[in-house]
Amino acid sequence: MAGEEAAAAAAAPEAAGPGPAQPPAEARPDGGEAGNGGGYDGKCVFCRIARREEPGTALLPCEYEDLVCFRDIRPGAPHHYLVVPVEHMGNCKTLKKEHIPVGKAEGRKMKEKWCSMKKMVEVGKTVLQRNNFSDLNDVRMGFHWPPFCSISHLHLHVLAPASQLGFLSRLIYRINSYWFITAEQLIERLQTENAAS
Ligand SMILES: [Zn+2]
Ligand SMILES: [Zn+2]
Repeated sequence: MAGEEAAAAAAAPEAAGPGPAQPPAEARPDGGEAGNGGGYDGKCVFCRIARREEPGTALLPCEYEDLVCFRDIRPGAPHHYLVVPVEHMGNCKTLKKEHIPVGKAEGRKMKEKWCSMKKMVEVGKTVLQRNNFSDLNDVRMGFHWPPFCSISHLHLHVLAPASQLGFLSRLIYRINSYWFITAEQLIERLQTENAAS
């Protein structure tokens, strides 16, 4: 068993009720490791999955070489996929505006392999469609905001149908909470932050 989100989720206490602002079960400080990419961490389960070193986790077809896609080991909805950069990257707090676009920005110095939010979202949509889920208005896509990441390796959660999330999932992947940010919100945030600085 690969472990992915499971380790933290299993260790976490049961959800304590519908009260507001309950940290999600997945919540666990990730040690503050601000990995800024470019590497491989043998202790990181997502690094191992991306390199096919976790036989229990099958990689799904993915149109980008620098990303991988697989099912969450603890699905929070009928469809629950993770989109993950192959190279180890820290959580979404370490991202910058240059992580938004598709394709390499011209004239901008970039690492050969880098992660694009829009690419990740695109992969998420494609994997849903491949698995016969086509109502893209009924999808929840986003990231856990540090320190509420059970795995410090950047990963996009793709859940559908959003309207069918169970109680616990509605909590863990709650929009406008301080522990979960949708991909759209993150892109907006990166754009604004950069405009302000
Ligand atoms: Zn990693
Ligand atoms: Zn997560």
